[in-house]
Amino acid sequence: MAKRDYYEVLGVEKGASTDDIKRAYRRLAIKYHPDKNPGNKEAEEKFKECAEAYEVLGDEEKRKRYDQFGHEGLRGSGVHDYQHMNVQDISDMFGDMFGDMFGDIFGGGRRGGRGGGGRRGAARGYDLETTVELTLEEVAKGTEKTIEFTRQDTCPDCSGTGVAKGKQPSRCNTCGGSGQVQRAGLGGFFQMVSTCPQCQGTGQVITDPCRTCRGQGTVPKKRSVTVKIPAGVHEGQGIRIAGEGEPGRGGGPRGDLYCYVRIKAHPFLMRDGSNLVVTVPLSFTQMTLGAMIDVPTLDGTRKLKVPAGTQHGSILRVRGQGLPEVRSGYKGDLLVQVAVEIPKRLSAEQDKLLREYARTEEKDVNSESKNFFEKIRQHFNGK
Ligand SMILES: [Zn+2]
Ligand SMILES: [Zn+2]
Repeated sequence: MAKRDYYEVLGVEKGASTDDIKRAYRRLAIKYHPDKNPGNKEAEEKFKECAEAYEVLGDEEKRKRYDQFGHEGLRGSGVHDYQHMNVQDISDMFGDMFGDMFGDIFGGGRRGGRGGGGRRGAARGYDLETTVELTLEEVAKGTEKTIEFTRQDTCPDCSGTGVAKGKQPSRCNTCGGSGQVQRAGLGGFFQMVSTCPQCQGTGQVITDPCRTCRGQGTVPKKRSVTVKIPAGVHEGQGIRIAGEGEPGRGGGPRGDLYCYVRIKAHPFLMRDGSNLVVTVPLSFTQMTLGAMIDVPTLDGTRKLKVPAGTQHGSILRVRGQGLPEVRSGYKGDLLVQVAVEIPKRLSAEQDKLLREYARTEEKDVNSESKNFFEKIRQHFNGK
């Protein structure tokens, strides 16, 4: 891609004063700053383009070369490769020059806030996950659970410094204790400031690590918290407990604990959204003639009227005996699916009566089984 004219990029005249150029750059840098245009690649490109234009036009020597020879004249002059720099570094570089202009404009806490990418390496701690097992009864009413889990806590032996008792951390040689490394740009006008890679911005290195935490400053520790679980939660749903995760780095806040719900199987009742489903076996006569039956609910049994002539597989509804919905509290129903149960054995009297009944239906039924099998037995016994 051909480079645009730097004066055009900043929207200034060829003869513009240094102050005009500075003002123009400031205005555009704020307009295209990625903090103001999250996810906007075009804005980010413009932001970088402006930074490059300003580095050249804002510097007397570079501007002279550019005026005389154009982009070619700047080869080897050490103009930064902004296209391949990250935005935070560019912001820091110019922010310092303008007296932290971005910090003023975008409000405090920008550094280190977003994704922990701050200069001093402040970062939010990791989130933790755990599961909690609930019965359907607990889902119906909501409950409180005490959850035990292990997380990192401040090491008791070094109070989190990571340094062995009686020892001191030593000053970082790479940055001389400032936590930042600086690199002067050509012309001495710019200074690249970035976090010291050796000490991650703390200015100190640990030469005698604490034995308990091996210099980490934290140790795993068991912890228990009580979690309020609302009625109606679903399998796999996560409940966030803020600030119970791993500790942050460099003064960053703790992460969160996510508690995922698992629901134990109930011996009779199955969940279907906010409804509960139960299958109840009934005899042919109960379904034919109607009956009053007991159906299981989450708190004891309830009477249910089965109307005469109920079909196999039909569903009877007991209103309000399901589970509440988390948001509305609206309660679902208990759905009773009836299944005809065929007797495997009949008494002599039942057999006789049923045969009489069958005759009234005028349908073919098998011959009396007892006699039939008796005949077979006699056949094989050779009698
Ligand atoms: Zn350092
Ligand atoms: Zn320690």
